[in-house]
Amino acid sequence: MTYDFDLFVIGAGSGGIASARRAAEYGAKVGIAEFDRLGGTCVNRGCVPKKLMVYASHFPDLFEESQGYGWSPVKSSLDWEKMITAVNNEVTRLNGIYQGMLDKSQVELLQGYGKFIDSHTIVVGDRQITADKILIAVGGHPIRPNILGIEYAITSDDIFHLQKQPQRLVILGGGYIGAEFACILHGMGTEVTQIIRGDMILRGFDDDLRSQIQEAMINHGIRVLNKIQMIAIEKDGAGVKVTVRGDEGTEETVIADAVSLAAVGRKPNTHNLGLENTKVKLHDGAIVVDKYSRTAEENIYAVGDCTNKINLTPVAINEGRAFADTVFGGKSRIMSYENVPTAIFTTPEAATVGLTETEAREKYGDAVKIYRSRFRPMYYTLAGKDEKTMMKLVVDQKTDKVLGAHMVGTNAAEIIQGIAIAIKMGATKANFDATVGIHPSSAEEFVTMR
Ligand code: FAD
Repeated sequence: MTYDFDLFVIGAGSGGIASARRAAEYGAKVGIAEFDRLGGTCVNRGCVPKKLMVYASHFPDLFEESQGYGWSPVKSSLDWEKMITAVNNEVTRLNGIYQGMLDKSQVELLQGYGKFIDSHTIVVGDRQITADKILIAVGGHPIRPNILGIEYAITSDDIFHLQKQPQRLVILGGGYIGAEFACILHGMGTEVTQIIRGDMILRGFDDDLRSQIQEAMINHGIRVLNKIQMIAIEKDGAGVKVTVRGDEGTEETVIADAVSLAAVGRKPNTHNLGLENTKVKLHDGAIVVDKYSRTAEENIYAVGDCTNKINLTPVAINEGRAFADTVFGGKSRIMSYENVPTAIFTTPEAATVGLTETEAREKYGDAVKIYRSRFRPMYYTLAGKDEKTMMKLVVDQKTDKVLGAHMVGTNAAEIIQGIAIAIKMGATKANFDATVGIHPSSAEEFVTMR
């Protein structure tokens, strides 16, 4: 049987583009469908525009801190429209770069929504194609919880296109995306209220990291309402009136210009894909795959957020490349989900790799030893701020292996990326101790903890 393509990919986001290009490098004839802009969530409404806005949000602090170093006060204000336009222009530039990369790899782009007719046939717009292997890399979308007036809420996707800066913003949920947006908008001067059902933000992360970030966010002036549920949103002039209820049943209303669902989670884009025409299986909306990213249908694979494993760009890319290496490159390779580092771009920034203290204690019991350091970094001494950096190592005393590293503080992502290599290689605490520090730096604390 001959097919139009050796590989057809549905979704040109992080995972889809990486897989398509790698398979094409091995000589496969590859096509890819995308109904939106190239680059997926990360480039268009995720990591990239978000990080640019994180940078934008840091300037007021820098202006203030500079005075401790002898600089005269800086009077400056944010032109929101200019900032948003610059961010979106950069996204458009990246869209073009992705188009160039696909062209260079000779991957054919079919602009349109891809849908299965059967396990080897896909329809994209008015074109029907066949492929030997098919990769689903369709990503996910923000969840809209069932709350009265939910239609008045915006999602994280919309924040990148707001024409005007909201003066008051309510963020629902305590996930990392919501915490990041709370800090971004607060840094830009918006009055932010974050509503969390539990007693702390960032469920699933190390407890010391969670409490340190939440404490810092509150100290900076973000209103974090814990153990609270949002029960209704009403239109209130040009803004919204949000009714919330505490655990004891007390109700409160918060008036804001906008309410955002940035932090209530995401769901895989597996509806309306024609998967019922294949043997592909779903669990809670996510595509079920084996360690080679293969679905229940022998020639169909899936990577990235649509499989809902670890929803991060480098994970989607790694899964996609492992798939292409295995299926088209003759190099059997699987993605390793152990010690995947990640960052939370709040202010202060945080990053983490490996086991949390709680996870380690569940697995290794009393053998777990914690090394923790909380200090004011040198930078804040002249700046006159009491912002603390927190570093923590989770160690298995039996083997001396470092099981996890967690940090809250400036440049945490840059520092933990390096630490992650050591942990991935199985470094022991003795290896950390034998490493000479870089002085003066914050990172040296990781090799001097007692
Ligand atoms: P996507 O990148 O979402 O790509 C899927 C693509 O498929 C999309 O372009 C979509 O339009 C297309 N598509 C869907 N259905 C079809 C169809 N039927 N036919 C054709 N095309 C289709 N990750 C990090 O690592 N670091 C971060 O700092 C970070 N920040 C984030 C911030 C936000 C606000 C969000 C929302 C996410 C963030 N992420 C971050 C997560 C990251 O963006 C995702 O994990 C990553 O994009 C997943 O890649 P993917 O290939 O699985 O899906």
